[in-house]
Amino acid sequence: MPTAPFMYLDGAIVPYADAKVHAFTGVVKYGCGVFEGLRGYRSADGDLLVFRLAEHAERLRFGAKVMRYDHVHKAVEIEDAVLFMLRANELREDVHIRVIAYLGGDDPLHQTGPVGLVAGALPRPSAGPGGGMHVTISSWFRIADAALPPRVKCTGNYVNNRVAEIEAFQDGYDGVLMLTAQGKVSEGSGACLFIVRAGRLVTPDVASDILESITRDTVLHLAEEITGHPAAERTVDRTELFAADEAFWCGSGMEIRPILSIDRVPVGDGRAGPVTRAMQERYFAIVRGEDSAFAHWLTPVWGA
Ligand code: PMP
Repeated sequence: MPTAPFMYLDGAIVPYADAKVHAFTGVVKYGCGVFEGLRGYRSADGDLLVFRLAEHAERLRFGAKVMRYDHVHKAVEIEDAVLFMLRANELREDVHIRVIAYLGGDDPLHQTGPVGLVAGALPRPSAGPGGGMHVTISSWFRIADAALPPRVKCTGNYVNNRVAEIEAFQDGYDGVLMLTAQGKVSEGSGACLFIVRAGRLVTPDVASDILESITRDTVLHLAEEITGHPAAERTVDRTELFAADEAFWCGSGMEIRPILSIDRVPVGDGRAGPVTRAMQERYFAIVRGEDSAFAHWLTPVWGA
């Protein structure tokens, strides 16, 4: 992958090839890293705007706390690491940014440190409003909160997402939706789900074994403006997917992406619907800094 040439590793900027940890560290042996994926967008005046950096830093800190790390990086350290790395790469184009607070050392399973911090970026244009997805419902259940909490964005958790995604891709789909072990709708391998029923937005609640997605929160903020009603956060039955007029993914990497069919059954009329299109339009305007009401969600990398 054409990753940006420099990364941040434990306080220093290093070439991509040198951002290494030992093969026996806790992150490798035990899958113990908490991570974030976020985006930066080029604005009309040529700056780079990182979307909801503070919220991503806070979620990383939450994950570190649940994993009982003996060092939880301060929010400002995480934010500065990201900005330091973006500036070192002289980036002004659309990017996907990845941050991992990783368990270093070579100690027993219950080790809680040392904790390192790494950040890098991948120049990656926004997908924009085009293109919908054809998804399947996985035969793999979503991991449960009382076993391997999906609310924590932990590297080890993604074994679950990965098997689901591989199965779906090998079966000819381009996305996958998982159910909870109780058979209710949960989330995708890298995004949360919204459906539209009778003009209202509905999304699985935070107790449906989902990651508490920051993009989901953005959509919740915009729901009333777009549909005239607040979104419903509740348990969603599998068959509601077939009753829905529209469905879309939301995620930092995925952005707002229409879902056109589920298990080959068209969602609504099989095209991106009006609520999805309106949500995309608002989202892309906000992330590019075209709406000053949401400037507090944007961190300019270069500007004032
Ligand atoms: N669910 C999962 C499993 C994810 O990996 C992601 C991507 N981080 C999301 C939802 C969307 O979360 P966010 O909007 O915070 O990127």
